[in-house]
Amino acid sequence: MSEQQAPDTAAETPSSHEFQAEVSKLLHLMVHSVYSEPEVFLRELVSNAADACDKLRYAAITEPDLLADDPQLAITLTTDKDAGTLTVTDNGIGMSHDELVDNLGTIARSGTKAFMESMAEGKGDIALIGQFGVGFYSAFIVAEKVDVYSKRAGAEEVWHWSSNGTDAFTVEPAEADDYPRGTTIVLKVNENSREFLEAHRLEHIVKTYSDHVALPIRLEENGAEATAEVRQLNTAGALWARPKSEIDADQYKEFYGHVAGAFDDPALTIHYRAEGRNEYTVLLFVPGQPPFDLFDPSRQGRIKLYVRRVYITDDAELLPSYLRFVRGIVDSEDMPLNISREMLQNNPIVAAIRKAVGNRVLSELKKTAEKDADLYKTIWSAFGSVLKEGLYEDMERRDDLLELVRFKSTSSDGETRSLKDYVADMAEKQTAIYYVTGDKEAQIANSPQIEGYKARGLEVLLLTDPVDSFWTTTVLGYDGKPFKSVTQGSADLDSIPAKEDDDDKSEDSKDDVDESAFGTLMAAVKQTLGDQVSEVKRSQRLTTSPVCLVADEKGMDRGLEKILAHRADNSMPSVARVLELNASHEVIKALAERAKSGVTPDLEDAARLLYDQALILEGETVADPAGFSARLSKLMAGA
Ligand code: ADP
Repeated sequence: MSEQQAPDTAAETPSSHEFQAEVSKLLHLMVHSVYSEPEVFLRELVSNAADACDKLRYAAITEPDLLADDPQLAITLTTDKDAGTLTVTDNGIGMSHDELVDNLGTIARSGTKAFMESMAEGKGDIALIGQFGVGFYSAFIVAEKVDVYSKRAGAEEVWHWSSNGTDAFTVEPAEADDYPRGTTIVLKVNENSREFLEAHRLEHIVKTYSDHVALPIRLEENGAEATAEVRQLNTAGALWARPKSEIDADQYKEFYGHVAGAFDDPALTIHYRAEGRNEYTVLLFVPGQPPFDLFDPSRQGRIKLYVRRVYITDDAELLPSYLRFVRGIVDSEDMPLNISREMLQNNPIVAAIRKAVGNRVLSELKKTAEKDADLYKTIWSAFGSVLKEGLYEDMERRDDLLELVRFKSTSSDGETRSLKDYVADMAEKQTAIYYVTGDKEAQIANSPQIEGYKARGLEVLLLTDPVDSFWTTTVLGYDGKPFKSVTQGSADLDSIPAKEDDDDKSEDSKDDVDESAFGTLMAAVKQTLGDQVSEVKRSQRLTTSPVCLVADEKGMDRGLEKILAHRADNSMPSVARVLELNASHEVIKALAERAKSGVTPDLEDAARLLYDQALILEGETVADPAGFSARLSKLMAGA
């Protein structure tokens, strides 16, 4: 009879398939390296089995027949010491022929390459394999051969996938009567891994990593010396449904490992039950470390949505994308179970949950910042650059986010400062919050444009994340104080006196430049540089450097301009900038004297050198290196 049920698709004889090259490399790493935590393979297989059961439960909402013949979803571990096998069985959704070939032969997710490289260099952490979407392959850490038998729910045929972890695998039909719905994975354990045939070892692993998988995980021992009983190894309850007082830190951590695929301690655990108009339970974690794909554009939040303990989806976008590092679940009591994933988009309950949960995460972060500054510092250094995206993406929560942001500054001594700190310490007559953007803190902290601010004791925020250049253009201000780039527009520093104790810089300014000569010099420099600069101006912001470049009042901030200029398409027209001259600098004073006798070739050279110097001070390259070198050589020879 089973012959008649044999599949009519694909080949009847075993068909051999090559693994995708990346998979082969990964398998090589699994087979040939020694891992300190080989047991992670079991967590990965159990987690896949649990996902398969969740998927079937969801599919059965609309198609109850899929579940009907075997409604008790469970995961079973079977050991057989005589045969040397450990078998992981689930009665979940199963895989068709094509799904076996795709899922267990290729790598779907990006980022795996980076993971493999770090593993190959001995720097990676095998425990994190689940995050990379390749958990299945960890079976080859302990197995010399892996056989997967799978029967897709609703289908008749069973497919048998087999590989010994080299370059190829086979897929062939198997006897349908021998396998029930779902997936059976048989691991022929290798010499060094016989510990995974021991019941107590398996029990310990399940308790440690998978206690709160919401399905029973059972253990069955086969072979001559086995006991006949089947035992359940885990608690199997939905952890979030239990009262907080009954859950300890280890249990939270285990569950976090399960939902986040991470092994560190969560920095923050947020667990509460919302009551009132909508009832739902929330269990969220802020990880202790950033995941590898935090900045992958395709990365979305993966908060899992449950309805009365039934898993629905992990792409309901329950949190805004700038909170995509948060992991966990939301379980609704009052949504219809048979809600389709498409309907979620416009569901009013989901919308209400989205709003409330997002607000709650921000308020928990704020509370942490107030109560535990050190912990908040860790969270900020891991996720601050992502949170800042909210400043321009989420107008409604902008004020809350402005309370959460932290920055280094010219007065922060390596620590981070809040905007509240900044405003509290503002100088008399200071009206704006000053900032400078760039990619290296050391460089922008010494940029010429901030000299005048430093000399006046004015704090300048040092912003080094690419997103800083964007939010600063859209956020109008904080506490009524506008944000002002120190590399743009006029410095408006006249009204604020320089600090008394300032050293030699102020001595320079004692003996003033000849005003009319300085005017002539500015005109000569502009004439020489032509359209390279939009204007040549006297600087208020310089104290020690002779020159600097700034954007004009309505132009784009220098930091943003640089980012856009580096974009591949190069479609940005380059904007002419304002060249500022420091009238109290010795070099400028000397050049002003020389300008009195007209625009000589020497003065033109000097003008070009000044401009190139301003570019170099910003870490940019000069447009004409040969000309620059020739002029500099000439100058040195003259000296
Ligand atoms: P991930 O689970 O992160 O996607 P894996 O390498 O562990 O990565 O698994 C790859 C895919 O194989 C899964 O996404 C799933 O579609 C499929 N799969 C693995 N194990 C099972 C199983 N027990 N039942 C059904 N499908 C499975």
